[in-house]
Order: sequence, then C-alpha cells, then structure tokens
Amino acid sequence: MSSGNNVELPGELCSLCPKLCRFACPVAGATADEGATPTAMFGGLQMADSEQLSWQAAADNLARCTGCAACTSPCEFDLDIPAMVHLGRALAWERGIAPDGARQFHGRCLEHGHPFGASLDRALEPFADDLDFQPKGRVLFWPGCRALAERPAQVAGTLDLLRRLGADHVSLPSRDDVPDCCGGALRSIGDRPGLQSNASGLHQFFNRQRTWVTASSTCLDTVSRSYPQEGLRINAELLHLAEYLLFFRARLASMGREAARRRTAARLPAISVRVHDACGLQRRLAKGPLVHEVVAVLCGQPAPSLAASPGRTHCCGAGDFFDCREPARAQAVGAWAARSQPAAPGSWIVTGDSDCEQALQAQYPNCEVMGLSTLILRWIDDEQAEVD
Ligand code: SF4
Ligand code: SF4
Repeated sequence: MSSGNNVELPGELCSLCPKLCRFACPVAGATADEGATPTAMFGGLQMADSEQLSWQAAADNLARCTGCAACTSPCEFDLDIPAMVHLGRALAWERGIAPDGARQFHGRCLEHGHPFGASLDRALEPFADDLDFQPKGRVLFWPGCRALAERPAQVAGTLDLLRRLGADHVSLPSRDDVPDCCGGALRSIGDRPGLQSNASGLHQFFNRQRTWVTASSTCLDTVSRSYPQEGLRINAELLHLAEYLLFFRARLASMGREAARRRTAARLPAISVRVHDACGLQRRLAKGPLVHEVVAVLCGQPAPSLAASPGRTHCCGAGDFFDCREPARAQAVGAWAARSQPAAPGSWIVTGDSDCEQALQAQYPNCEVMGLSTLILRWIDDEQAEVD
C-alpha cells in the first residue's frame, strides 16, 4: 500500500490480520500490550499516514519490537517483520518523530558513537595487546559496540583463542580511527541517514579485509543486509564466529577430547551445557545450527537447546537494542523467556550471539552464561587448571 506521499508503507497484510501471531510475540505476551503486535504496529502506521492517529502514537507502537521474528513461525505470509518494523520507524524518523527511549538512545549515539554511554576507545586496553591490532591482518574480528562495552575481556579472549587454534592473521579494528558501531544501533531507531553515515565510514575498511567475522547477530545482519540496501555491498566474506571456528574443526575436536579425557581421569563431575538459540542467529540469519555444531565438536556430543526446540527459542529482551531503548519492557521480556526456558543451577548456558549475553546472565543468576569463545577457553583451560 502506498501512503498519501506515494511512499510504500510496510505491513498492510498485518494491519488487516486478526493477530494470528499474537501468541508468539514475547513483548505482547510479557507485557500484555496489544500495541506490540504486528497488527497494531502496522495498523497504527496506516492510520498515521491517513491522519487518523498521531505519528507519535504510531512510532511508540513500532518501538515495541525486539526483532525476534517469533511472529514469522505462525504466519502464512513469509513476512520479514523486523525489516518491516525498521522501515516503519524510518518513516516516522523522517518526520522527526521518535519515542522518548529512542531519542535518549540517539543522544548517546551522537555523543559517543554508540548507545552505551561511555567512550570505548580504551575499553580493550587492559586486555588486548599490540598483536591483536595487526594493520595487515587479513581477517577482521569485529566485536561490535555492545561486546566492547559489556565484555571487553571476552573480545580479547576471542583473539587469544583464535591464535591458539592456528589463526594468527586475525586482527581487531585499530584502536583510534575506526568507529565502534557498524550503524546497527541507529538502524534500530529508524535513523537511516545515521546508518548510511556509519556504513559509508566503514565500507572501505571492511572491503580491505578478506574475511570479516563477528559474534554479534545485529552487526552481521546490519552489514550483510542493510549495507547493501544502502548501496554499500561488502566484498569481504562475512561470517559469524561459529562459521569461522568450524574452519578449525579438527583442532577444536582434539582439544575438546583431551580436556574431556583429563576430566574423566580426575573423576570430575560432568558439566551441563545448554545452548541458547539466539533469535538473531536462529531465525533471522539461519546460523543457529552452526552454534550447535561448534558445541558438539568441542564437547564430543550435542548439547540441548535451552528452548523446547531451537526454532521455538524465546527472546532474551536485548534484540535490536530493545534493552537500551525500552529497558522496562526488555526486562519483562527477559523474565518471561527465563520462566519458559528454565535451566538447572550450575548449568553453562552458551549463546552464539554476543548481543544476548548480558541480558541472559541477568535472568539466569545461578547459571554461567558465556559466548562460544569463553566456552572453548573454559572447556580446555579450566579442566586443566582443575586437574593440575
Ligand atoms: S506477521 Fe502474519 S500472522 Fe502476524 S499480523 Fe502479520 S500477517 Fe498476521
Ligand atoms: S519480531 Fe518479535 S517482538 Fe517483533 S512483533 Fe514479531 S514476535 Fe513481536
């Protein structure tokens, strides 16, 4: 459907739908908020366009989506709701309309280059060394602003792990002259000019890499899907960390076996590992099975999903920077997910998505939440430490 301004409006089907996906939406479920459904979000957009509703009300509804894509399972129409929501937010943004949470988020992005409220220039300094910043490295490990802000030690640990696996040509982005955020943050609030500006600033740098690797589903989705939509296709091979780790499958398997052998010899108790299937990897990018594969190669056996099945995974609340834009709703979504997906105390919960770690840890205080690189380092080193 076209708007009065001849702009294509997304979501006409949803606006006419009797909310067939409502039961799947974590925001509608956790907050009992009918404004969070695709029917309300896109119905509001159509009404704002025909001046039956304020654009502010429409934008407030559109902010209530984590981009988890759970609504796509019950839907007959194969719609990309998260991408449609970005389009809807961009239409509001063009009119100077945004929810309060998005405005504050935008202010932090303008001040710091990312939404986490502090400079990240020196975040890696205590953990990384010069070897991690190779100007001629052919493989770039892109941490993304969230990992730099929340878990800088783990970013440095990933580089350490990759070198131990034999990948000595991997580098982090240089310290000073590369932005921390790929533009995914500004995309999440509909600031398309902001996304274009970040993408233009990084395009040549990314294109100088042979391979670009990240553990963030948001960064991978932004660079692989949204950059081309802005006319900036990246020529480097774009990989999730799980895909890159599987290049070292044999070494990973042998390190995992050796650690398991030591553990058995020392009669140490088995570790309960559960895989958190991140929405962004499982449903948006179809990379979820690769995360399970890395865990199975390392541990010598598959680990169960935290969810009833990988495809039925629940959003942790941090998708599409929801926790930064709408913290109270994100907290409710995370708690709702944890109630639906219990884990035994002491379990190791492994997620392939660095965007989810902090939100998950807050919801599972009696478990250890970790990314793939931490799992591998813990598996091969902790066991050694315990035996020694
Ligand atoms: S995503 Fe599908 S099921 Fe949900 S409102 Fe839109 S058309 Fe209906
Ligand atoms: S993408 Fe997720 S949060 Fe957004 S409407 Fe669909 S189910 Fe709800």
